[in-house]
Amino acid sequence: MGEKFLDFRSDTVTRPTAAMRAAMAAAEVGDDVLGDDPTVHRLEARVAEMLGKEAAIFVPSGTMSNLIAVRLHCRPGDELICEAGSHVYNYEQAGYAQLCGVAARPIPGEYGVLRPEQLHDCVRPDNAHYVRTRLVCLENTHNRGGGRIQPYAAVEAICAWARSKHLATHLDGARLWNAVVATGIALSDWTKHFDTVGVCFSKGLGAPVGSALCGPRDLIAQAVRHRKVLGGGMRQAGVLAAAALYALEHHVARLAEDHANAQRLADGIRHIDHLRVTPERIDTNMVFFEVDPAWGTAAEFASKLKQRGVLMLPTAPSTIRAVTHLDVTGADVDRAIEAVQAVASHRC
Ligand SMILES: *Cc1c(COP(=O)(O)O)cnc(C)c1O
Repeated sequence: MGEKFLDFRSDTVTRPTAAMRAAMAAAEVGDDVLGDDPTVHRLEARVAEMLGKEAAIFVPSGTMSNLIAVRLHCRPGDELICEAGSHVYNYEQAGYAQLCGVAARPIPGEYGVLRPEQLHDCVRPDNAHYVRTRLVCLENTHNRGGGRIQPYAAVEAICAWARSKHLATHLDGARLWNAVVATGIALSDWTKHFDTVGVCFSKGLGAPVGSALCGPRDLIAQAVRHRKVLGGGMRQAGVLAAAALYALEHHVARLAEDHANAQRLADGIRHIDHLRVTPERIDTNMVFFEVDPAWGTAAEFASKLKQRGVLMLPTAPSTIRAVTHLDVTGADVDRAIEAVQAVASHRC
């Protein structure tokens, strides 16, 4: 998809900036499988410090960080509790089942947000008929929930409850940076309730590749073995870690611009006939809207938008997702609104 499209499909479509590429080119590197890459070490130390955790491990993807977390906390025959729309449950091929022998218990939330009471009856009794309930996974911000920020009090209550039941807790924080910038609640406050936390550098932060899994030193030491068997041991990975370090330095605070742009996009779409922004409230950098079936399908809508140079992602028969990021400006948002308006006013 070349430069000629305004690409709102995802915040993963960003390309490294010139300054980020310069940082990558200048990175000091070594063989990280042999423990020799100083830039990877620097990134891992920096991320652990930022999240207030003892240690961090650099991994190729958010999917791998969730998978390793499940392997650290669970054994075959265990069960994890997650929100029904979560990434780990919907978009990772049930890796917890394929590769860990773990079952999932999905609980439907409202735009990805669970009420603590919903979990209270979810711990299986200790009985040979049942799986062992072992782990609670939350996601913040919640992708399919429309970029929803988890209410802090609910996170605190759910994790406290989990601890009281001797359950481990993992946060899929692929977009936790967005929650930090939008709420002003410190990163380490969001993370302190969880045993392990995964964060992505390749979403809103604009790095080309990479995530980190953070947690206690002993667990992260074990994670090195899991990463290796999953094929995630990387050699001169400092080139990638340098991009992530650059992103942590320069691309976190600016997420506020993405949030303002998403708000502007939603406000532009809200009043267009045949379309409905849902959820109505925009918390961070994602806008979902429904296309009235009387107009046509979301896929038809997206293909008409493409003819006007705007890419958005159909995520359900009537639903389109638009995500703001480093490579779209306020002026791009205005052009996109015009395109959406034009498509909506010409019935399919
Ligand atoms: C993108 C995403 C992931 C997975 O990250 P990949 O790097 O694409 O594997 C995990 N969780 C959430 C919430 C995501 O949005």
